[in-house]
Amino acid sequence: MNYHSTRNANALVDSAQAVLSGLAPDGGLYVPQALPRLDVSYALSLEPMEMAAYIIGAMLPDIPEMDTLVKKAYTGKFTAPDLTPTVQAGPYTVLELFHGPTCAFKDVALCMLPQLLTAAKTQKGQKEEVLILTATSGDTGKAALEGFRDVDGVKICVFYPHGGVSQVQRLQMATQAGSNVRVLAVEGNFDDAQTGVKNIFAAFGDRPTPGGRRLSTANSINIGRLAPQITYYFKAYRDLLTRGQIQMGDAVNFCVPTGNFGDILAGFLAKKLGLPVGKLICASNANRVLTDFIRTGIYDRRRPLHKTVSPSMDILVSSNLERLLYFISGDTALVAQLMEKLSREGAYQVPAQLLGEIQELFAGYCCDDNATCGEIARIFTQYGYLCDTHTATAFAAAEAYREDTGDERPLVVLSTASPYKFPAAVLGALEENSQPDEFAMMTRLEKLSGVPVPGPLAHLQDMPVRHREVIAKKMMTERMEVYE
Ligand SMILES: *Cc1c(COP(=O)(O)O)cnc(C)c1O
Repeated sequence: MNYHSTRNANALVDSAQAVLSGLAPDGGLYVPQALPRLDVSYALSLEPMEMAAYIIGAMLPDIPEMDTLVKKAYTGKFTAPDLTPTVQAGPYTVLELFHGPTCAFKDVALCMLPQLLTAAKTQKGQKEEVLILTATSGDTGKAALEGFRDVDGVKICVFYPHGGVSQVQRLQMATQAGSNVRVLAVEGNFDDAQTGVKNIFAAFGDRPTPGGRRLSTANSINIGRLAPQITYYFKAYRDLLTRGQIQMGDAVNFCVPTGNFGDILAGFLAKKLGLPVGKLICASNANRVLTDFIRTGIYDRRRPLHKTVSPSMDILVSSNLERLLYFISGDTALVAQLMEKLSREGAYQVPAQLLGEIQELFAGYCCDDNATCGEIARIFTQYGYLCDTHTATAFAAAEAYREDTGDERPLVVLSTASPYKFPAAVLGALEENSQPDEFAMMTRLEKLSGVPVPGPLAHLQDMPVRHREVIAKKMMTERMEVYE
């Protein structure tokens, strides 16, 4: 199956090459020339791992033996036997995506991506080792490390801002095991780390690094990260069918805490593949670029970035929105023009018809930190369900959407992180938080909620610290390839 850039439909690559390259040479994102045909009833009859193999296999048909790759990716890595369980919280069905090795939803895709990448590398006969570089503000780095650890033919180096991540996030990375991993704290903020990574890519491009490796990234522009996320929309629908909450064919709404627009775009693709998806509700925090865009058709990044209690959604440029613009308009020239405007002027406006079609499918809501914490308390008090800060923005959006529209169709809230990953904000939402550190906060939260602290977080305190190096920005290239 052929893929091309969102900005030019003429240069075609197969799906294995699209995974291997990540980004198209013109800076656009890879999209399939035509979406595959899925047998939806068949997909919904499958167990989670078979379902994943069927759906990812349909999206990436040039990568062989998808069943084996899926088993390798997920077996023994998720604490829930069905990977992404659903639970009921009052009127809402919650799709819990955080039962993987790092307790955040990115595990679903980042356990799978290394398998896809190494299979694509073999398929394409690429001999050199791959070096994955990732700058992280917290969650992505750890999920990528865990996904790529001890994967043959791949090295991974993660850069995070020194002093810029939480205690739990820092320990999660500093204790990372694996013979092919590097974790470096960079003096500076997240933007410094990210700029450093971009400079390394600009310096080497497609050419080998000093260590003879090919650079690649683990971020959500790669179609190999998007495809695995489609599966859990089908899985949630299947759960509702099994429990008799819906009949086959009934439309279900999904509410998604959104940053880079990857997670919610997977829901859009699930709909395009035939799943009866109703409205996709896009939840944002105080960085409400997407809320404004969905309501007005104007995307405007020229505003200050707020640091919030839901840091994984503190984003002003949502890269995967570019794919939505392409899928809805089908017009690569238009997408190229809009992206050019965004990079030159910091803003663009979509044509009225395109906006109309986006509004048919999506609704946008946002809430600030106060409302986020209020929502954590409300959901806990009313429904006895403890959610994290990102998920709380989705609960708030779901509630506001139902009130505004009276749309009573079943609604699934995607829960993207364990509440124990953000214990300071979550505990602070429930009571006066005077605990001395994040581990004491976890213990207190466990007592309040009766929900056990997930193993990977509970054991962090006792694990040996393996990565202590703090480097200056200008040392990133020099230190990224030092593997014992
Ligand atoms: C990354 C992340 C998000 C946002 O997902 P996108 O695909 O970037 O929209 C939401 N919640 C958590 C906990 C995350 O780590």
